[in-house]
Amino acid sequence: MTVLANLINGEWVTTQENRPNVNPANTNDIIGYSPISTSEHVEQAIAAANAAFPAWSTSPIQQRSTILNKAGTEILERKEELGRLLAREEGKTLAEAIGEVVRAGDVFKFMAGEVLRMPGQKMDSTRPGVDVEITREAVGVIGMITPWNFPIAIPSWKVAPALAFGNCVVLKPADLVPASAHALADILQRAGLPAGVFNLVMGKGSVVGQAILESQEIDAISFTGSQGVGSQIADIAAKRMIRCQLEMGGKNPLVVLDDADIDVAVEVALNGAFYSTGQRCTASSRLILNAGIHYAFVEKIETRLGDMKVGDPLDAKTTIGPVVDERQLQADMSYIEIAQAEGATLAFGGKRIANDLPGYFLEPTLFIDTNNDMRINREEVFGPVAAVIKVQDYDEALSVANDTVFGLSAGICTTSLKHASHFKRHAQAGMVMVNLPTAGVDPHVPFGGRKASSFGPREQGSYAIEFYTTVKTTYVLP
Ligand code: NAP
Ligand code: MG
Repeated sequence: MTVLANLINGEWVTTQENRPNVNPANTNDIIGYSPISTSEHVEQAIAAANAAFPAWSTSPIQQRSTILNKAGTEILERKEELGRLLAREEGKTLAEAIGEVVRAGDVFKFMAGEVLRMPGQKMDSTRPGVDVEITREAVGVIGMITPWNFPIAIPSWKVAPALAFGNCVVLKPADLVPASAHALADILQRAGLPAGVFNLVMGKGSVVGQAILESQEIDAISFTGSQGVGSQIADIAAKRMIRCQLEMGGKNPLVVLDDADIDVAVEVALNGAFYSTGQRCTASSRLILNAGIHYAFVEKIETRLGDMKVGDPLDAKTTIGPVVDERQLQADMSYIEIAQAEGATLAFGGKRIANDLPGYFLEPTLFIDTNNDMRINREEVFGPVAAVIKVQDYDEALSVANDTVFGLSAGICTTSLKHASHFKRHAQAGMVMVNLPTAGVDPHVPFGGRKASSFGPREQGSYAIEFYTTVKTTYVLP
């Protein structure tokens, strides 16, 4: 039986209490046990990170690049094995899980290059004979709190740039998916990171997460998760005047215009709304259809939903895995009830599936006859549930798409350059997709949203430097 340990100051530290890591597709399958850590573990990890910071933040860039590159190489080489582990603990299909692992590896590789390209500027001063330099330095010790839906990619896209630019890290992964974070910690440790530079502390958000937030010895917080926890972090960060970066929920619209290629649009909607069991912050949960294409689109997507195979993520025939746990499944079911009570028509799915395996299987679920004021269109469900809103024209589609507190991703399916161009400019979202799913992004360009979806500088790509470095201006009279 695998019992995982925390990584604190370069040592693997076990805890007295542990919790089982359950496979959501088969609750008889216990993948291992993970630490139930205390605030003392967090304090030790933060102390270790602070002690490691002076040396790490001034270490040669080649040393950091080599370590990140090595970690990326190992992640990519072990993609099948790590993908299986990820699929088993989170429930996305094996193909999706391997894709996520590759993304994590690619991020480390990208950041291994980025550290060598760390920019600076030398300028003339307005004063005679004086030189001015603008350089970037590491911020300090970064507390990271991550969600369960991308167990290796999200920790990687925070950890890789943090380490690249010379910061030290204390990571608390989601309690539901400890094994992927543990595998990442093991890879980083063996890649040659000095003790204390990267620390992993597993356990409950209310204990371990809270202890990170309450620490006076943390210099920044990077968080991905729900809006509730996010706004609490923003409060704390503002009071302590430390920086924070928050990536939260979405209620992402996919607009389909009458002139869209209907087959493209149906596949884009299917992928965006239902793949990864709809458990993506970028999922297309509102399908905004022009009246002229509405009937044909709904008919086609219902047929395609009938082709979906919900089941064991490790079975190659499965297209949709289970919901992550019983609590999330109950939350999804309650939104299915709420939608019907508000007058939406259930067009497909809506029921829990009794599978051969004891797991949390839910039919992909589609509502029609909904309007944008219904709770199903205002609140994030985070499950395989999408709602169709019928609109008369492009202008109404755009206005409905933007009528939400969220602003992460927005998509449009159209063959009109005019409408695509207008939508790109006027969609109130951090990411816009034309004839592509709202979910599914590249590792080398910025990721993030607007309004209630995100707060603080963007993650990923060359923009990651904004959060993970601080600017210094130096004046020199030689
Ligand atoms: P969550 O409940 O906010 O949890 C996120 C992380 O915060 C977990 O590690 C959790 O610990 C921890 N946490 C919970 N309560 C805490 C507290 N009081 N203090 C400190 N930490 C605390 O969110 P989730 O249910 O795991 O994830 C789903 C949400 O994440 C959705 O809203 C989704 O949209 C969002 N998400 C956003 C993005 C994005 O980039 N925009 C990406 C993926 C997911 P536990 O281990 O105890 O849960
Ligand atoms: Mg699990």
